[in-house]
Amino acid sequence: MKIVITDGYAENPGDLSYDGLKKYGELTVYDRTAQNELLERIKDADIVITNKVELRKDVIDKLDNLKFVELMSTGYNVVDYDYLKTKGIPVSNIPAYSTEGVAQLVMAFILEFAIGVGEHTESVKKGEWASCPDFCYWKKPIFELSGKTLGIFGFGRIGRAVAKRADAFGMKVLFYTPRDHGNYPDYAKRVSLDDLLSNSDIITMHCPLVPETHEIVNSEFISKMKDGAYLINTSRGPVINENDVSDALKSGKLSGAAFDVLSSEPPKKDNPLVSSPNTFITPHIAWAAYETRKRLLDILTRNIEAFINGKPENVVNL
Ligand code: NAD
Repeated sequence: MKIVITDGYAENPGDLSYDGLKKYGELTVYDRTAQNELLERIKDADIVITNKVELRKDVIDKLDNLKFVELMSTGYNVVDYDYLKTKGIPVSNIPAYSTEGVAQLVMAFILEFAIGVGEHTESVKKGEWASCPDFCYWKKPIFELSGKTLGIFGFGRIGRAVAKRADAFGMKVLFYTPRDHGNYPDYAKRVSLDDLLSNSDIITMHCPLVPETHEIVNSEFISKMKDGAYLINTSRGPVINENDVSDALKSGKLSGAAFDVLSSEPPKKDNPLVSSPNTFITPHIAWAAYETRKRLLDILTRNIEAFINGKPENVVNL
């Protein structure tokens, strides 16, 4: 069995080890793979493991040995999973490994909106407190989370973990999900999309990137939000229309926004959000804690073993 990891560096910059996969076959690990290097590197592979390298129909058609595709992520939009399904090739993802990490980052963003620890520390370091005539000052309105309404778009694992944390801060929690999964906690209320948008002080996106959610956050979506609301996206960059969100930040329709994901990563130099006011951006780090990446590697190893044993797990396309 030939196993190729196309872009292993982000998951393991040196503090983890892929050696545990060697018992399942001949393992080749590339730190990074440009799209134009992909075919040459995986043409003989039985198993392809990818994090963000796209695996599309044109390349898939040239892979005679391909039997299994493993994502190093929860989101699986980088792979033509429906096309692989037509060929009977399973695609597995890593569900749930980063739920805690993403929920934690969402709360960090919400707290930054409310208090601005980072922003105020930067101001103090620039000498603004030392030259202040009063014993205190603040750079922007500070607000309490208690009593504010959080609107969660997509109520799966991460959405639910965010709801729990928001409830602990005394926030009211509304959520929208197109499919009824049931078993909702009593502190969260399922509402229509229109009600979510018109009643929430902060909207946070936790849906997968699928055709229905592509750029779902656009000028129409934003126009239904409360004036001065906040937006958070930690799901996938293309879930929002970046120009529309940037315009809303500039006009003040949105008071602020925070993103862990952008439409292309790394972002283009002229990405409109990078220069938008009241915008906090982290470089796709919600999953980056050591504990989280270690969990990812453990699940990935189990997925490979399950496939080798003829019972693939966490399959997203069959
Ligand atoms: P999940 O599958 O548990 O939940 C997804 C939820 O979205 C489900 O409730 C589903 O019903 C809902 N949904 C599906 N289609 C929808 C639609 N058209 N409109 C609204 N909601 C819809 O997934 P999860 O573990 O909660 O992860 C959510 C997303 O977060 C992932 O798909 C991934 O893209 C992203 N993610 C990002 C990071 C990061 O590092 N920033 C890490 C992990 C996951």
